Amino acid sequence: MEINAKPNTRFSGQTALVTGASRGLGREIARRLAQEGASVCVNYVARAAEADSLVGEIRVAGGRAIAVQADVGDPSQVERMTAQVTKELGPVSLLVNNAGVIFRATLETFESAGMERMRQTNVDGLIYVTRAVVPGMKERGYGRIVNLSSIAAHGTSLPGNAFYAATKAAVSMLTRRFAMELGRDGITVNAVAPGFILTDMVRESRTEEEYQGLVRSISERSMVGRAGDPRDVANAVAFLLAPESGFITGQILTVDGGRMDYISHP
Ligand code: NDP
Repeated sequence: MEINAKPNTRFSGQTALVTGASRGLGREIARRLAQEGASVCVNYVARAAEADSLVGEIRVAGGRAIAVQADVGDPSQVERMTAQVTKELGPVSLLVNNAGVIFRATLETFESAGMERMRQTNVDGLIYVTRAVVPGMKERGYGRIVNLSSIAAHGTSLPGNAFYAATKAAVSMLTRRFAMELGRDGITVNAVAPGFILTDMVRESRTEEEYQGLVRSISERSMVGRAGDPRDVANAVAFLLAPESGFITGQILTVDGGRMDYISHP
């Protein structure tokens, strides 16, 4: 049901940094924050054209956005990005640590290079970007941080996700610990744990047939009977970033349509 209310501007005057916003969930989150009035930094690592197209879309709609290339796993690139956003859009009060990669493997096919790449982006990247924006948030006594964990971290039965899940378990734990550390400074830190959402990540290294089969089986194992749309996640992130969500911190909000295939389930 669509209610034709006046546009929501709850993020007006705030600057958002969304990592990995050229595609998938990050793109939808950045779009949503811009629609609600935030100035948005669209971070990406390789796909400049995708990031630029989103920035163009936001500007045409009357919003403010810039695209900034930086590998979140490289602290010097993160520092450069943070300085550029602050200079061009203002100090960051909304941070979404979304950038993430997956290298599927089993115990037999495990390779430390894949694990290292996941750790650098999914875990170290989150730490570097948080560390870069927190001093400014502390100075102003206000900040909202949302990290992208995954239901893989709760323990799902999808094959090949074990090592990725371990990096996302680290994301969930860092969320709670950073929330503890930063709460008195007016900064909340929460995570969203999405289920199976239709983006490039879930297609990666799967044939079209495998992918379609997975969408069908995941839909059957979800209480709402479908796979997720990036807007499902953007909604949850926007809720946690909202000014009125200041009494919610250290939480991991599951957005998975009610999946019924956790390891502990029959
Ligand atoms: P995609 O693979 O579709 O997009 C990944 C995004 O991250 C791209 O914008 C990519 O940039 C960027 N990125 C990758 N590595 C880096 C890096 N080192 N530095 C900066 N940016 C980087 O992923 P999704 O949108 O599906 O996933 C987003 C987040 O949500 C991830 O953390 C993922 O683990 C998590 N998640 C996703 C789920 C899903 O079902 N899709 C489920 C649970 C969690 P570029 O375009 O330039 O390559």
